[in-house]
Amino acid sequence: MLRITELKLPLNHSKIDLQTAVLHRLKIDLNKFISCHIFRQSHDARKRNDIKMVYTVDVDVKDEAEILAEFIDDIYINQTPDTEYRLITHAAMTNKIRPIVIGSGPCGLLATLILAQMGFNPIMLERGKSVRERTKDTFALWRKRQFNAESNVQFGEGGAGTFSDGKLYTQIKDPNHYGRKVLQEFVKAGAPPEILYLGKPHIGTFRLVSMVEQIRATIESLGGEIRFQNRVDELLIQNGKVTGVQLANGGILESSHIVLAIGHSARDTFAMLNRVGVYMEAKPFSMGFRIEHPQSLIDKCHFGSSAGHPLLGAADYKLVHHCKNGRSVYSFCMCPGGTVVAATSEEGHVVTNGMSQYSRNERNANSAIVVGITPEIDYPEHVLAGVDLQRHWEQQAFLLGGENYSAPAQLVGDFLTQQPSTQFGSVEPSYTPSVKLGDLSYALPDYAVSAIREALPVFDKKIKGFAMHDALLTGVETRTSSPIRIKRNEKFQSLNTVGLYPAGEGAGYAGGILSAAIDGIKVAEAVARAIQS
Ligand SMILES: Cc1cc2nc3c(=O)[nH]c(=O)nc-3n(C[C@H](O)[C@H](O)[C@H](O)COP(=O)(O)OP(=O)(O)OC[C@H]3O[C@@H](n4cnc5c(N)ncnc54)[C@H](O)[C@@H]3O)c2cc1C
Repeated sequence: MLRITELKLPLNHSKIDLQTAVLHRLKIDLNKFISCHIFRQSHDARKRNDIKMVYTVDVDVKDEAEILAEFIDDIYINQTPDTEYRLITHAAMTNKIRPIVIGSGPCGLLATLILAQMGFNPIMLERGKSVRERTKDTFALWRKRQFNAESNVQFGEGGAGTFSDGKLYTQIKDPNHYGRKVLQEFVKAGAPPEILYLGKPHIGTFRLVSMVEQIRATIESLGGEIRFQNRVDELLIQNGKVTGVQLANGGILESSHIVLAIGHSARDTFAMLNRVGVYMEAKPFSMGFRIEHPQSLIDKCHFGSSAGHPLLGAADYKLVHHCKNGRSVYSFCMCPGGTVVAATSEEGHVVTNGMSQYSRNERNANSAIVVGITPEIDYPEHVLAGVDLQRHWEQQAFLLGGENYSAPAQLVGDFLTQQPSTQFGSVEPSYTPSVKLGDLSYALPDYAVSAIREALPVFDKKIKGFAMHDALLTGVETRTSSPIRIKRNEKFQSLNTVGLYPAGEGAGYAGGILSAAIDGIKVAEAVARAIQS
């Protein structure tokens, strides 16, 4: 099989046009061609009036070696690499060690799935409820202002990514193609097959829910076990080695191999780990607001008259500005055609995030506009001071919102001219249960507010209308990544606690669904190696 990269075609082209371009690129006739399929599809919209589709195509041809020899110096034509994932081992029939995985987010889910596929009969412990039950609890906050501290957007089957846009791209290096394995497992579980080749794939919330259930069924069919409403309250350690966990219900489970995939919001668990002496460090993260614009504004800016073309979908963006006060402001977790959601996991807090459905056809585009903060400058007091800082501003948002889970909001025009907002303009808020208009200057530290004030007009130069008067800011976005890193060694084990495998976003090793899932595979392999050594 030959792989052609950077094959560019105009936006309006047919399947035959693609095949013709392949033949032309390889300088072959139809009689040498067997078949081809798209490995990657993206678009190049740098020139709005001349948008190109960009393909990576795998082509099956007769006389492959002969054809390839003609392109020896062509970096865009190569042999198709082997990206197939192979399990590194199988558990011995006599294996009695059952690894424990704490957390059922993308990291814990993939770690458990791979361990189950290798025959290690893992046990996954999840503090929240199964995904259908959890959905009811999450909707209860969004619709009726009823909050459940153990079952919400952050906690429960599927982890933080379940009610999301389901964007599946990452910038991490992935030389072993673990990302492909993740996507293949997601497709087996019901994700749309095009996630395997789209440059920026996404799944959407509704499908994520049934996918998570399907992965659970696969794990169980392979001898794994999943226990919901099983919060780990204590890590049991003897002579620097893990021996098991104590659960909130008092039960004890023994294991010498424990994967810690608890996400960035398990603040009580962070405190417990710190108390029992697991080595961790404070780490940088970001805080800011969600911004909403009409999706049509973003589409028009990026795609011009091609906006709405089915191959392009709803446009996204990525923005960054380095401020005079030394801070960086950037857009984060952009959700085209989506909604802003209430994402707290603690009572009396307000936290924003974003999600969308597969169709991405809601009226508004949203993203977080956040400011980078660091432990050295902003929360030097102690290792968990970043958590204290997050809590402070989340509680402040709760107060500003009226202490009933409404989120504080302000129109961009008013935010820039430092006036409280009193009425909505053309952009309707998507956040539920509701937002309360006011003054967001009190919702974040001064340095963050002034950095965002400086950045918005700069972003407006890149996307005309970004700082439009009626665009809406909603606060506060505090859970951009973990405020701590639980350091691990080359065996993926904690620096000072043998048999503990800190993993995923909460431990500081991932920043999204795909990177968390990839980390889950790496850690599962490390556990398998350790058990068999
Ligand atoms: C609304 C929203 C939208 C998002 N959108 C996207 C997106 O489009 N694309 C993207 O890449 N990322 C997105 N993210 C981020 C993404 O969800 C996370 O990066 C990812 O889920 C991290 O995976 P994880 O497995 O490391 O942790 P999590 O998904 O946070 O999972 C951790 C799990 O551990 C459980 N847990 C915690 N403590 C304990 C304990 N003591 N005992 C037992 N269980 C415990 C929790 O209940 C949770 O289920 C979004 C996040 C949110 C909240």
